[in-house]
Amino acid sequence: MRIVVVGSGVSGLSCAALLLRAGHQVVVVTAHPVQRVTSHLAAAVWFPTAAGPPDAVARWGATTYDVLAAEAATGVPGVVMRESLSLLREPRDPDAPLPDWADAVGRVRPARPDELPPGYPAGLRYAVPLVEMPRYLPHLEATVARAGATFVVRRLERLHDVLDLAPDVVVNAAGLAAGRLVDDDTVFPVRGQIVRVANPGLDLSVRDEHHPGGRAYVHPRTSDCILGGTLDAGVWDTDPDPAETAAILARCTDIVPALAGAEVLESLVGLRPGRRAIRVERDDSLLPVPVVHDYAHGGSGITVGWGCAQDVVRLVEAEGP
Ligand SMILES: Cc1cc2nc3c(=O)[nH]c(=O)nc-3n(C[C@H](O)[C@H](O)[C@H](O)COP(=O)(O)OP(=O)(O)OC[C@H]3O[C@@H](n4cnc5c(N)ncnc54)[C@H](O)[C@@H]3O)c2cc1C
Repeated sequence: MRIVVVGSGVSGLSCAALLLRAGHQVVVVTAHPVQRVTSHLAAAVWFPTAAGPPDAVARWGATTYDVLAAEAATGVPGVVMRESLSLLREPRDPDAPLPDWADAVGRVRPARPDELPPGYPAGLRYAVPLVEMPRYLPHLEATVARAGATFVVRRLERLHDVLDLAPDVVVNAAGLAAGRLVDDDTVFPVRGQIVRVANPGLDLSVRDEHHPGGRAYVHPRTSDCILGGTLDAGVWDTDPDPAETAAILARCTDIVPALAGAEVLESLVGLRPGRRAIRVERDDSLLPVPVVHDYAHGGSGITVGWGCAQDVVRLVEAEGP
């Protein structure tokens, strides 16, 4: 079939890659070059955040964890397995159940006291994929192009605007804009501000989801570290707030004292595509051809991307009504 995929973020490109692998012709329509899409600036660590529903996120997340782990093992650009520490503010009962995400991760163990920063009584250690999107996304785009996809740069007003490309099926993976293209007014922005600093030699990801100053996470990459972050539902402002930058630096230094004095490279803001539930669904009534939606991944687009894309291929190939 000839499939038009709208969006060249992580969602659109992973759908395009799997559709090409399944033998379809693919045209990718995007309003922006990959360097300007939300996926490009994401911290891009595997960790379910601000996305639902929980059972589907767990299933998509487990699939994606395995795909990214295999990519890390085979040296795909930008993908590494990152040792990680989730900090806890209360001592942990050894019999307490592990968090939901632990099933996908496999080996999760209590942190030893010598692995904890000052003031923290407990934590969990595990390894998850971390994806350096400025390397991975262009690689994914090039892979998709090499496999035969063509790219059209076009800003759509409505999803109907792709019908001149003669699709048999349209995949709607336009991120935050996806709702507007199909009159789904339940999609909203979840603003995220992060700070990029020079990496002072760190190789452990550390997070405290319950820091009194707000969520705190430190994700070391090859030459920089992503420090976060904010999660502000309904906020459209994309200008970094200097006060927020200072607050992020302060709380990240609490959890990783070695960050004190790290050189600040830039502050960045991205708008995550929020919705009550990620929409992976086929719609046979919207256009004269079937539409398969894959949008509203919230703070989990990299965490669930490959799992959602597998379902998209199944829905594309499903029999119509
Ligand atoms: C600060 C921050 C940190 C994050 N950290 C993580 C993390 O650690 N782990 C994780 O899993 N997720 C993280 N996320 C979430 C993740 O970035 C998103 O869930 C993901 O990028 C969504 O990808 P997408 O491909 O659906 O959308 P996008 O990357 O936004 O791509 C949308 C595509 O649609 C196209 N498009 C938009 N409008 C139109 C139009 N009108 N016409 C044609 N094309 C259009 C765009 O040009 C683009 O190609 C983070 C997000 C932010 C902001």
